[in-house]
Amino acid sequence: MPSFLDLFKKYDWEQVKASIYSKTATDVEHAISAKNRNLEDFKALISPAASDYLEQMAGISQQLTTKRFGHTVQMYVPLYLSNECNNICTYCGFSYDNKVKRRTLSAMEIMQEVAAIKEMGYEHVLLVTGEANQTVHVEYFKQVLDLIKPRFAQVSMEVQPLDTSDYQQLIPHGLTTVLVYQETYHQEDYKKHHPKGKKSNFEYRLETPDRLGQAGIHKMGLGVLIGLEDWRTDSFFTALHLSYLEKQYWQSKYSLSFPRLRPFSGGLEPKVVMNDRELVQLICAYRLFNEELELSISTRESPEFRNNIIKLGITSMSAGSKTNPGGYAVAPESLEQFEISDERSANEMAKIITAQGYEPVWKDWDRSLTSQIMS
Ligand code: SF4
Repeated sequence: MPSFLDLFKKYDWEQVKASIYSKTATDVEHAISAKNRNLEDFKALISPAASDYLEQMAGISQQLTTKRFGHTVQMYVPLYLSNECNNICTYCGFSYDNKVKRRTLSAMEIMQEVAAIKEMGYEHVLLVTGEANQTVHVEYFKQVLDLIKPRFAQVSMEVQPLDTSDYQQLIPHGLTTVLVYQETYHQEDYKKHHPKGKKSNFEYRLETPDRLGQAGIHKMGLGVLIGLEDWRTDSFFTALHLSYLEKQYWQSKYSLSFPRLRPFSGGLEPKVVMNDRELVQLICAYRLFNEELELSISTRESPEFRNNIIKLGITSMSAGSKTNPGGYAVAPESLEQFEISDERSANEMAKIITAQGYEPVWKDWDRSLTSQIMS
């Protein structure tokens, strides 16, 4: 089976990094004026040299996003099902070595959470778990999907990487989208941040989008955890991965997220701090590189930043999120995966989106379409 790993092995992290940092104003101007932008153009757009061109990039990004997506922002909310996890990840509140109370929601508890989420108006839910294969496994996911799919127009998942056959089993139960972040493409640093558990297998994680594509998933989401390594180099590898996947699995759609490392109980300090201006640059660079890509921003970011980014290329947002299992109704006081920065409710966020001339879209996926895919 084809795999991104073969292509990935042809690239050297330090060479890529040096190439990005050597881009000049001329390279940036060429990238901005190019009709079809390639990976070299993307390097220029994320380089320090592009910082002086941010306004121009933001203008083009806004124009391209409006052309493809209109004045809309898709709304979604995470539903944390479990904080059980057998992995040690240095940046996560659910890490195995973090002595916190663990819980996996029962069917009844899930329905209580669903009721609270529906009350907020959501039709798109993102199911999130840690990696505890004894309790949170494919059979559990099937049961959860059967339980909640009739109540939502769209169900996405951000759980442990699975085998192709597992994804093939879940799609008929209503799974449409899977998010799997590589965290970092720096293989050595990846090992440092994932010293124990199945997640320490860099290559298995790297090949997850291939398995999703082979399973025929409707949409997959990529990204890295910004702060673990040089964000520019990590973003290049994400763009390389995306380009590969789009060619290989052209039937699937793609989304990208930009999580910046957030504080949590016993937390890790970022190795590299990305400021707000740089995050805007990255979002605009992705939009200039790829007009079809869905770009998502979560409540990790501050209210001010989220207000300002609506018009610049973002196509989906969460609001009113809780990052603990039971956080909406069952156990609001339990430990979060990370601290939320924007605590405004879904309703408040919707008003802000509307005030900027955009429409918050709660449902962009019809149940009848899901039935067609499932049949
Ligand atoms: S990031 Fe995911 S796999 Fe790692 S400790 Fe947290 S929940 Fe577990």
